[in-house]
Amino acid sequence: MLRSHTCGELRLTDVNTEVTLAGWVQRVRNKGGLIWVDLRDRYGVTQLIFEEGSTDKSLLEKAASLGREFVIQSSGKVIERTSKNDKIPTGAIEIKAETLEVLNAAKVPPFIIEDETDGGDELRMKYRYLDLRRNVVREKLQLRHRMMQETRKYMDAQDFIEVETPVLIKSTPEGARDFVVPSRVNPGEFYALPQSPQTFKQLLMVSGFDRYFQIVKCFRDEDLRADRQPEFTQIDCEMSFVTQEDILNTFEGLVRHLFTNVKEVQLGEVERMTFADAMKYYGNDKPDLRFDMKFVELNDVAQGKGFSIFDQAELVVAICATGAGEYTRKQIDALTEWVKRPQIGAKGLVYVKCNEDGTYKSSVDKFYNQDDLKAWAQKTEAKAGDLILVLSGDAKSTRKQMSELRLKMGEDLGLKDRNVFKPLWVMDFPLLEWDDETQRFHAMHHPFTSPKTEDIPLLETDPGAVRANAYDLVINGVEIGGGSIRIHDRPTQQLMFKHLGFTEEEAQKQFGFLMEAFEYGAPPHGGIAFGFDRFCAIFGGSDSIRDYIAFPKNNSGRDVMIDSPSTIADEQLKELSIQIAAKKE
Ligand code: ASP
Repeated sequence: MLRSHTCGELRLTDVNTEVTLAGWVQRVRNKGGLIWVDLRDRYGVTQLIFEEGSTDKSLLEKAASLGREFVIQSSGKVIERTSKNDKIPTGAIEIKAETLEVLNAAKVPPFIIEDETDGGDELRMKYRYLDLRRNVVREKLQLRHRMMQETRKYMDAQDFIEVETPVLIKSTPEGARDFVVPSRVNPGEFYALPQSPQTFKQLLMVSGFDRYFQIVKCFRDEDLRADRQPEFTQIDCEMSFVTQEDILNTFEGLVRHLFTNVKEVQLGEVERMTFADAMKYYGNDKPDLRFDMKFVELNDVAQGKGFSIFDQAELVVAICATGAGEYTRKQIDALTEWVKRPQIGAKGLVYVKCNEDGTYKSSVDKFYNQDDLKAWAQKTEAKAGDLILVLSGDAKSTRKQMSELRLKMGEDLGLKDRNVFKPLWVMDFPLLEWDDETQRFHAMHHPFTSPKTEDIPLLETDPGAVRANAYDLVINGVEIGGGSIRIHDRPTQQLMFKHLGFTEEEAQKQFGFLMEAFEYGAPPHGGIAFGFDRFCAIFGGSDSIRDYIAFPKNNSGRDVMIDSPSTIADEQLKELSIQIAAKKE
């Protein structure tokens, strides 16, 4: 090896040892006859000292010529530092350098490679390999590595078998667009990249594998956001001969294992909530439970008092912002403007301040007397010093708006503590979801999800009311995973496709293989998949999954480092029997 030690391991106990280190030059400080070089590698930083008199002149000159990020090797003796640096673990020693070899010179990097850098996003993405040299960036990927190892440990201990499934497949319906790959040997035909290994993992259950998992890349051609990438990673799992309860317990176990072993956090109880309650009380199928502010419906106390906006509303709903009674007029006006922005879309915001003297001050004092407002306060459990915020309108959009307002208040009042983790199972999702655009029902999870047996008759009469055996794991308002108990017989699967608007031929063409498999002894089965990148981001306390991916794509789905996607040669297109209709300028 080109080194005897790493740059992170030498301590006072190593004084007088002869060592050889190799790494990158972090910094050179030249005080004339005295030069310090901070040498960095993945493990830490060690200081080298070159001193006039004790080292020969050419060595000193060589040290003076070192630039940032040069790759060097140096040997010398470990000595105790006179002025110690207690901020780094190697801060009590330095190396009195006796040799210096430049293994590779380096151009001046386009941004400073330190925890605090001057490089903008786009520049750091272009030089991602340099960005990855920064501790703060590398540490995120080390966290990801730990989570991966611990996941495998837990799954293996629970008898899950890791099986790889193909990447060149045909369309899987997870609700997004597919990425497709042209087939050269089958002109005019295309593979699709998997949006998930859904059908394969179900087939593995038919094969009797009993417990499957895979840490797997999935591909979805969707519009990008901070927490979305066109290719992302799932912890994908499936189990046979289980009930929903078994799955929830097994994967609560995984989540707990990761929290204990990676984050050293003892996770509290994983709450459970039906989808219907999540919508009613939080207006959201992934409520952030780090703070309360549950919705309280005020229709019965707020209607019929002459305030026509409330009287005409399907829903009048309030939250109580604890301690926000001190909000100034200006702050409340700003909140009102905020909810009226097109992204939120509320028409207005009604407030009630609960004064310290037990009186109330509201924006609708004209219509409601103190007793009326007291009734609101009682319902919302508002105390002196609190602020009640009320929205009204049609139930669906009002809940959505209130959900946004609740999250904003949580943020503004500092209630979203990154060190608090509130996991929650959201259960009993609707099986189907009406899509206004296509004027038909879509599978809310995917078409292989089983309806609740008792709701099957509703499929004919009220499809929107059918509940599914489907569940999501939510942590702090982020959906970390989702899954379902599957359909495992042909007639039910066929019925499902029918309700999703497939003709029999279409269903057969796309999923005939699965329905046929169900006829060869398919065990009852179910599973779940976790969004691994998001899971890492939650552990790392970040909103962006990009930081947890070594080579991510930017907001337009580009890898600016390797410049992809890119055009391909006409020759290649010809081979693939593809003609480009409109070339990019
Ligand atoms: N395949 C599903 C998804 O990617 C997860 C599952 O049902 O297991 O969302």
